[in-house]
Amino acid sequence: MADRGSLEAAQEILRTHFGYDRFRPGQEAVVRAVLAGRDALAVMPTGAGKSICYQVPAVVLPGLTVVVSPLVSLMADQVRSLKEAGVRGSYLNSTLTPAQQSEVLARARAGAYDVMYVAPERLADPRFVQFAAEAAIPFVAVDEAHCVSQWGQDFRPSYLAVGDFIAALPTRPVVAALTATATERVRADIVRLLGLREPALTVTGFDRPNLRFAVERCEARRKTARLDAFIDERQAESGIVYCAKRATVEEVCDHLRERGIAVTRYHAGLSAAERERNQRAFVADNAPVMVATNAFGMGIDKSNVSYVVHYNMPGSVEAYYQEAGRAGRDGSPADCLLLWCDADIATGRFFIEQESSNEALTPEEAEVVRAGRRRMLEAMVGYCYTTDCLRRYLLRYFGEGVGTTGAPQEVTLSGGERCCSNCAGEMEVVDVTAEARAVMRCVHELRGRFGKTVVVDVLRGADTEAIRSRGLSRAAAYGSCKAARPLLMEVVELLAAGDYLTITEGKYPVVCAGGRYREAARDDFRLLMKRLPAKTARAAVPKAT
Ligand code: ADP
Repeated sequence: MADRGSLEAAQEILRTHFGYDRFRPGQEAVVRAVLAGRDALAVMPTGAGKSICYQVPAVVLPGLTVVVSPLVSLMADQVRSLKEAGVRGSYLNSTLTPAQQSEVLARARAGAYDVMYVAPERLADPRFVQFAAEAAIPFVAVDEAHCVSQWGQDFRPSYLAVGDFIAALPTRPVVAALTATATERVRADIVRLLGLREPALTVTGFDRPNLRFAVERCEARRKTARLDAFIDERQAESGIVYCAKRATVEEVCDHLRERGIAVTRYHAGLSAAERERNQRAFVADNAPVMVATNAFGMGIDKSNVSYVVHYNMPGSVEAYYQEAGRAGRDGSPADCLLLWCDADIATGRFFIEQESSNEALTPEEAEVVRAGRRRMLEAMVGYCYTTDCLRRYLLRYFGEGVGTTGAPQEVTLSGGERCCSNCAGEMEVVDVTAEARAVMRCVHELRGRFGKTVVVDVLRGADTEAIRSRGLSRAAAYGSCKAARPLLMEVVELLAAGDYLTITEGKYPVVCAGGRYREAARDDFRLLMKRLPAKTARAAVPKAT
């Protein structure tokens, strides 16, 4: 336990230097652990206040706290605001001249700083390693710690040096890792690769009770009509419509403008001046509706955004939750609607294959990164398909409810109408277990050599060229399930989202076994699918109240 004195000192510093009355619950848990000499892993969403978790201990502890961060462009600002708070901060990165760097190191040697921000690359620089070996470093904080994992969204090979750096210090410091990304796998990587020792795990702040979540499957050609109905119910309110592609942003923005809505747009294809102008128009409510790609939103603090519509499915639950979370910052009820169709899944898969990463990765590393992204995409597809509470799905994904002991606890939920479209019973739930078993038997028999279309054609006993030329009409599964084609296609996607099957990428994707393949053969296997009842499919989702 942190001794009473140091915790009181921390609270005092929080008040006097930073001007906050009290720690947020997650912050206190991390600060307590660090002051007690225990490593910590903190998983908190953006905006939850991760910085305080290391800035306050940095002031309490004697010696120099090293903060590893990939955000080089923000370091100068961070240090400036620390100085305003009366904290002796510094940073060392490539924006400084060699002479400036020497000066920072000399001053640090003389004990002039409480905190030093460095980029991970710096930890491999012999001059810095030499400095660190001689300095008293009681505490190392690793911000954006998910960058160490190849399974995360932003893998950076340079983060792999952090663990070695810590291990090579003459006295092992306390280490705190902080991130907003929290899949089990990424979390395990952080602990292993940074060499955390029995870290206190803190996961907090993901629930946003005032947000109402809704998911609707909506074919591409019907999306504009659906969006119109949604926005018409929310005239004079401010909202964001996220699209996957720049071209879609243009189309949707033009369409809304023609309908007389004060709308603006944002994507990386616009000039910096226009982006700036449009963003300002949105924040000032001159154009209360923003249509944008995921390039929009970082650092935007607009409190009265009352809805976020995703016009396409994003590539990960992390991205979705971060974007949807821009609604309802003022605490008022707000709506988060996700519209999706099969084409969105295909686009997501295409993006993964096309994407080149920000740092030079070896082909093997790049493949591991892609595999990680495929899993993240499947989790997103799982969100679209789940018949369970959407909020519960999100909170489970981020591991909320896991206490510092690591024991899972039940997630608390608001439930009912205001919770999500599933809890409100807007969806009809259909049991597709029989169809799913037929699909699994068919994929097994075809030994994962064919794509979705062939699998479904075999099941339905179709007479196509592909079936004839491969002699597939002799398969035992041929004609074994006469369910409608779109339903079977959906069952295949649902099985892939649940990891019972895998759909590979590339030019000729095939359907093959997934990680939970065997579970689908068990007696208690059930597969449920949700659908919008035909009657309500065209009606608008009730507005948040
Ligand atoms: P993160 O790094 O998790 O995205 P920040 O550290 O930038 O978040 O903090 C987000 C915001 O929360 C900041 O504006 C900060 O001033 C505020 N904040 C942090 N801790 C507290 C606190 N204990 N009480 C009130 N506001 C806080």
